[in-house]
Amino acid sequence: MYNILDDAFEKRYAVPQFNMNGLIWLESILKTAEKCNAPVIVGTTDKIVDQLGGFELLARAFDIMKEDLEITVPTVLHLDHGQTVERCKKAVDAGYGSIMYDGSKLPIKENVKNTREVVEYAHQHGVTVEAEVGSVGGTEDGIYSDLKYADQNECIQLVKKGGIDSLAPALGSVHGKYKGEPNLGFEEMASLRQSIDTPFVLHGASGISDSDLQKAISHGHAKINYNTELNIAWSDALRKVLIENQDLYAPMEILKPSIQSLNEVIEEVIIRTGAYHKALNNS
Ligand SMILES: [Zn+2]
Repeated sequence: MYNILDDAFEKRYAVPQFNMNGLIWLESILKTAEKCNAPVIVGTTDKIVDQLGGFELLARAFDIMKEDLEITVPTVLHLDHGQTVERCKKAVDAGYGSIMYDGSKLPIKENVKNTREVVEYAHQHGVTVEAEVGSVGGTEDGIYSDLKYADQNECIQLVKKGGIDSLAPALGSVHGKYKGEPNLGFEEMASLRQSIDTPFVLHGASGISDSDLQKAISHGHAKINYNTELNIAWSDALRKVLIENQDLYAPMEILKPSIQSLNEVIEEVIIRTGAYHKALNNS
């Protein structure tokens, strides 16, 4: 089974995941990845999948756009924070290459059981699975959660019994904008790494300093999710163009600076995570 994270995990860099909010975002992510010769993961948050057109449409759009743009870098369509076992299976059926099942709010026994069910189904179709323990704090897609550190024992259970391909252990990161200083638990991270040989995934990376990011990568975070940073770049550019050009109404003209900003942020992140020019090694 192909896991886009294997090379990153081995060589200690991280593949960035960028969440899309429409086809324009998909195009921007794929084009910039190709330009940077970098592997990338295109994320669709389950909460907005239906608004974006549903699993089938997204999976087809991903394949068609990759072909039209002649994308050669390793890339995969990923379901972010899959809410139920059924929806994860639907994404697999539609042709997603990677799934996150998020049972982090459930008791660990139930989380492991559901994750295991997703893993069995996904692996039959060559699809990799990520799962979460603990709770990444903050707000994502309008839903607020308190920060709760991942319990080491629960992480081990989810990896061993769940059979997952990557683990998102909540270790102090926060979805959305930080209030105050982000505080990653590096001691917990190091001790977790000693007992688990599975790539880690970092959610809520926006606002984390470069040195902390590098430290997290050195502890085996092979996938880092970016959402807020892109959303801010997009909306700042949009706000500016609308305020400065009161007579402008052509949608594609209005969106040009936003697309430009997206491309720039994506490139910056690719450099920061060390994924720049790493596609050669994979192909
Ligand atoms: Zn997340």
